[in-house]
Amino acid sequence: MHTEFDVIVVGAGHAGCEAALASARMGLNTALLSINLDTVAQMSCNPAIGGIAKGQLVREIDALGGEMAQVIDATGIQFRMLNTKKGPAVHSPRAQADKKAYQITMKKRLEHQDNLFMKQEIADGLIVIDNKVAGVVGQSGLQYKSKAVILTTGTFLKGVIHIGNYITSGGRIGELSSERLSGSLRDLGLEVQRLKTGTSPRLNSRTINYKNLKPQHGDENPRPFSFSTKTLSGAQVPCYITYTNQTTHEIVMSNLNRAPLYTGQISTTGPRYCPSLEDKIVRFPDKLQHQIFLEPEGLDTLEIYCNGISTSMPHDVQERIVHSIEGLEAAEIVRYGYAIEYDFVPPTQLKLSLETKAVENLYLAGQINGTSGYEEAAAQGIMAGINAALKIHEKEPFILDRSEAYIGVLIDDLVTKGTEEPYRLFTSRAEYRLLLRQDNADRRLMKYGHKYGLISDQQWSTLQEKERLIAETLAYLNYKTAGQDALAKILSRPEQTFDQLLGIDSELAEKNVPGDVQEQVEIEIKYKGYIERQYSQIEKFKKMENHKIPDWLDYSHITELRREARQKLSQIRPLSLGQASRISGVSPADISILMIYLAKKA
Ligand code: FAD
Repeated sequence: MHTEFDVIVVGAGHAGCEAALASARMGLNTALLSINLDTVAQMSCNPAIGGIAKGQLVREIDALGGEMAQVIDATGIQFRMLNTKKGPAVHSPRAQADKKAYQITMKKRLEHQDNLFMKQEIADGLIVIDNKVAGVVGQSGLQYKSKAVILTTGTFLKGVIHIGNYITSGGRIGELSSERLSGSLRDLGLEVQRLKTGTSPRLNSRTINYKNLKPQHGDENPRPFSFSTKTLSGAQVPCYITYTNQTTHEIVMSNLNRAPLYTGQISTTGPRYCPSLEDKIVRFPDKLQHQIFLEPEGLDTLEIYCNGISTSMPHDVQERIVHSIEGLEAAEIVRYGYAIEYDFVPPTQLKLSLETKAVENLYLAGQINGTSGYEEAAAQGIMAGINAALKIHEKEPFILDRSEAYIGVLIDDLVTKGTEEPYRLFTSRAEYRLLLRQDNADRRLMKYGHKYGLISDQQWSTLQEKERLIAETLAYLNYKTAGQDALAKILSRPEQTFDQLLGIDSELAEKNVPGDVQEQVEIEIKYKGYIERQYSQIEKFKKMENHKIPDWLDYSHITELRREARQKLSQIRPLSLGQASRISGVSPADISILMIYLAKKA
């Protein structure tokens, strides 16, 4: 029986799939344990990948050699670039997924991966020897040994589901919860807290009247997520838009005494940016309607996901809510909305590598760290997978900083600031978002994917060729003139596009510059001033990040620091003065004291 591995990943959700693939591709014997292998990469909530800031994450995961982008390219049923009326810094790809096809495709890729072994098993506890993880104990009684363990258990740790006063245990509705693992984490000295999230009802499309509803179609020329997908070939289907109304709001308000969120039945914090319908109506009483997107769950099912009415109201109230909405008067609910409470591990207990401070070689990734969202989970998953493999190979951890990637922003936020509500990423969380664009994730991050063996030599040389063409085209535009002005100056005008330059300069047209190169050149020229400003801000940022704090530093001896600062610094143990400066409760004065102290010790 095969029970000895280098790395064990617990949980085949979005984080676990990326973690296991990265570890196996880095040459380590990897086991992926999950409660049910028929729910690999399941989308617990809406059937979509990407969106604002999340789309950028998916492109970054792809540039590092992850799988999410390729799987959604193969199984997406509607692709859109969001925010195209705004600047390129906030353009974000999003796709509706064929939910089942996505799962099956991801599972196939895991099954075909060398060094990767999938096991249907519930992890009940960890084997730890001298504060170092040594494996996992399964509910079956089997012991699985390993050098590192990555926990990616999502919403399953002591999951409790609420629909009105119906309460049941489960990691998702209809699925088992993981009852023992978080107790084992507590026994190891980790703090565990609870959060809440929720989901919307699903309807049978056959019972929806689409006649007066506004369709929302995908882009005419849809763009793939993955840098290696050349074209998207799948069918594209529309979503539909409808709205709640005064009657819906009255139904909710008159039934708040039966809403678990308002009766005290649920007391944990939910996602502020993805509130339930009852929260939206209570918090924004002046809003007369809320938008609802009717999103198909796939091509082989009639199930429709109602994006915008996440609720844990009782069954009969959900029926009345749905039937009060235009187009849904006779809609049949096939799955009711629900809320779920679950255990998570406050992420300030992690290092930037996602290894726990308490137990060596134990890594956590995904919703267990207090995040919400498939993309946030997958991003942490690939980083944890890479870092577990590096640790076993006795190499330095892989840490992306805030100036390099949204992934860096996400992990730094979690580890340095922690979170008291389900954390989701936004473009506004990134200080250098003009540089962290979805269109240049390959140029920012593929070098790392290649270094760690997750990006092939062929992908790498394609990028090298793209870089060569970008440099060549930029040089040409700076040197070639039309009339008085260099082509670069003409292109820098707001109304001018690269395409239009082709009509002005026939030599440029003959060069047949590929679309992705044109895009990079156009952005670099049009936003030159802003980009240069961000680079100089990054230089300052890097100075603080490069000012390392030795890990042996005992803050309790630095009596000049305020007590709160001493406590927070001892708890977070920042790697650099830059990271220290972002800890809440550590002031600029504390940083100056620390800087002087370190200079004296040097
Ligand atoms: P998951 O995708 O949850 O996967 C965890 C995996 O671990 C599962 O396969 C499970 O079987 C396995 N597992 C758990 N414990 C064990 C164990 N002990 N042994 C073996 N296997 C185990 N995100 C949003 O962005 N917006 C939302 O509105 C939203 N709403 C949600 C509503 C609900 C009801 C739920 C359940 C989730 C919602 N999410 C939402 C969250 C989203 O589903 C997650 O953020 C994302 O799936 C997390 O990925 P993950 O890999 O961390 O965990």
